[in-house]
Amino acid sequence: MHKAFVTQVDTAGTKFPPVQRKKIFCGVCEGSCGLEATVQGTELISLLPDPDHPNTKGFACSKGLAFGAVRDDHNRLLHPLKRCPDGSFEEISWEQALDEIGERLNGIIARRGKESIGLYQGNSVAWNFGAFLNLFGMAGALKTKHLYSAASIDINGYWMISQLLYGSNFLNPIPDVSRTDFMLCLGANPAVSHGSMANIGRFRDTMMGVTQRGGRVVVVDPRRSETASLFEHVPIRPNGDVWLLAALLKVIFDEGLEDREALLRQTTGHEILREMLAPLELRHAALASGISVKKIQQLARDFAGARSACAYGRCGISIGPFASLGKYFLDVLNIVTGNLDRPGGWCFGRPFVDLETLMHRMKSTGYNRWRTRVDDFAEVAGTSPVVSIPREIRTPGKGQLRAMLVVGANPASSSPAAGELREAFKDLELLISLDVYQTETSRLAHYILPPTVWLEREGFPIFTQSHSGVPHAQWVGPTLPPRGDTRDDAWIMDEIARRIGIVPADFPGAQVLGKLGLRLSPSLMMDIGLRTGPEGDWFGLRPRGLSRKKLIGNNGAIKLADTVPTGILHKRIFTKSRKVELDHVLIRGEMKRLLAYDFTVDSRFPLSLISLRELRSQNTWMHNVPKLIVGDRVQRLRIHPQDAERYGIEDGDPIEITSHFGQINVPEARISDEMMPGSVALPHGWGHQGNWERAVAVGGSGYNELTTNRVDSTDLPSGNATVNGIAVRIRSLRVSRAVA
Ligand code: SF4
Repeated sequence: MHKAFVTQVDTAGTKFPPVQRKKIFCGVCEGSCGLEATVQGTELISLLPDPDHPNTKGFACSKGLAFGAVRDDHNRLLHPLKRCPDGSFEEISWEQALDEIGERLNGIIARRGKESIGLYQGNSVAWNFGAFLNLFGMAGALKTKHLYSAASIDINGYWMISQLLYGSNFLNPIPDVSRTDFMLCLGANPAVSHGSMANIGRFRDTMMGVTQRGGRVVVVDPRRSETASLFEHVPIRPNGDVWLLAALLKVIFDEGLEDREALLRQTTGHEILREMLAPLELRHAALASGISVKKIQQLARDFAGARSACAYGRCGISIGPFASLGKYFLDVLNIVTGNLDRPGGWCFGRPFVDLETLMHRMKSTGYNRWRTRVDDFAEVAGTSPVVSIPREIRTPGKGQLRAMLVVGANPASSSPAAGELREAFKDLELLISLDVYQTETSRLAHYILPPTVWLEREGFPIFTQSHSGVPHAQWVGPTLPPRGDTRDDAWIMDEIARRIGIVPADFPGAQVLGKLGLRLSPSLMMDIGLRTGPEGDWFGLRPRGLSRKKLIGNNGAIKLADTVPTGILHKRIFTKSRKVELDHVLIRGEMKRLLAYDFTVDSRFPLSLISLRELRSQNTWMHNVPKLIVGDRVQRLRIHPQDAERYGIEDGDPIEITSHFGQINVPEARISDEMMPGSVALPHGWGHQGNWERAVAVGGSGYNELTTNRVDSTDLPSGNATVNGIAVRIRSLRVSRAVA
């Protein structure tokens, strides 16, 4: 018997279902932490960290360990729901739901064309390869430009810059933290987030390892975050990161600190950098970033002079008005100092399913191959930006968005100008939501279709496998059977696709094969990709190679190497020159836009608001889990003591926040010198509506009632929303509440 299976017998001789210990990985966030699930029959006994996982080595956070509560939540939707005319929902069968959806979609297609159908991919799809493939496949089969991704709220700049520099949206280098001598961490809080766009196991401890072996970690953040408080902290004005990065590069070039040999060997077009940075004045960058010229110069010298160094950034650089340029400069800083593709630097991962190559071959990656209908944004990886959705719904004409399938997303809370989006959704002829709960978004849908959760379906870490600091392979079968009448998202999409006569696949010949009754399941497609890739078994020709079957049978992750590979740039990169291509007209234009940008403070809205990730939250979900919401859990606005005094605010006051675009009330102020004066921080993902009782009861307000979807407020090249550095004013509601 497999040692993971133990049959239990009680004293009366009653046999219980065998206890199984399954090594799996967590599907909540980019940590992809190894877990050990103990299961008896259909019951989840426990979820514990997997000490044998090669990357996370026994670490898992409270969210992953508590996920059983989401699976077993009494608010979880277990049957398809149809909205009644009075706004309530009635349970219906899958057959009725799918047939009615198919009929309504066919009617819309007949009247308005396939291009009027939209699809929305939520963050959770990144851990659901079946949903991911079927969504892209459906968009391709429908030839619709209305494929929207939550990525355009916080990461589109990464996708587009990777396409420009490395030839593929999905080829994103990661910091080699375990070997670096100097880590510059901009606008990221790995001690809480556990990493994003970098799957570094035990991220916080690995960063601590840098200083323990005599290296240096500098954290740049407007807030002395949980990460910043462990290392050297350089406070910065919100959205000032792009100025800092440009200024660091300027110092490096002015002082001849660049690695010319690396630039010649690895890049084309590097001459443009010096020319582009020439008009930048350091004192101007110092004003915009709030960091002195002296500090910038020293930081540049230290970074360039380190034996190895990596600059890593996340929301601080990717959700402001210059997200693309900021990401460009981040990569360029690593490149010009000779740290690309070398130990301790900025390195490419080693995925076990080489999705980057597969998608490149299928021409699924790209940038600016077409423009959006209303706002004229460039497409990024075949997607349109979420900021455009209300205008795409409300602007008449060919291709007007009339129906939408939202998968694993809550854009009515998470997208900028959320209130406007909620109203626009009401104008759709058909809104379908695949969701575990009735949320701010799904409650607006005509149909809510309940999917399985990651514990109930097959999976491999499709998104994070190429970002892993310790390359490894893992593919797991369902840990538990589906609850109620739930179904896999991929199955649901396939059934809808069947009813409108398409195959949800975008590879050549997929539709013809479909007409002959042949449909390749996402599992089969990915297994073929694995088996014919660099780690594959080539169908028996390489007996030591991997296959889906082998991995599922392994009950645990297999380590592929101790560290990320280096010296592989020319093999990994997809540009025609096989070098990093640095010169782009668009980037030069963005630099001019930056230099002309007016960053002076509007006296009517004197504070700059940033969003805040909390340890026990995951964007807009997980607030319905009792363990994660107990104790002192209130949405609090962080404010510096000087600002609190100036605006008459006391600790614990209820606060009204007003921006150009909206107003919200927040339950409490927390006065703390963790903030940089002039900036305030508010946790996002609060202020719920719908049937998830605890999440609604915990209160708070939606961050995105304060943000905008205006075109001139986005990062123009990528269409990414600006959700950081929002100009606001605040006032205490203590007095008015007391009077009331
Ligand atoms: S860090 Fe993320 S992946 Fe790891 S256990 Fe927590 S929620 Fe899951």
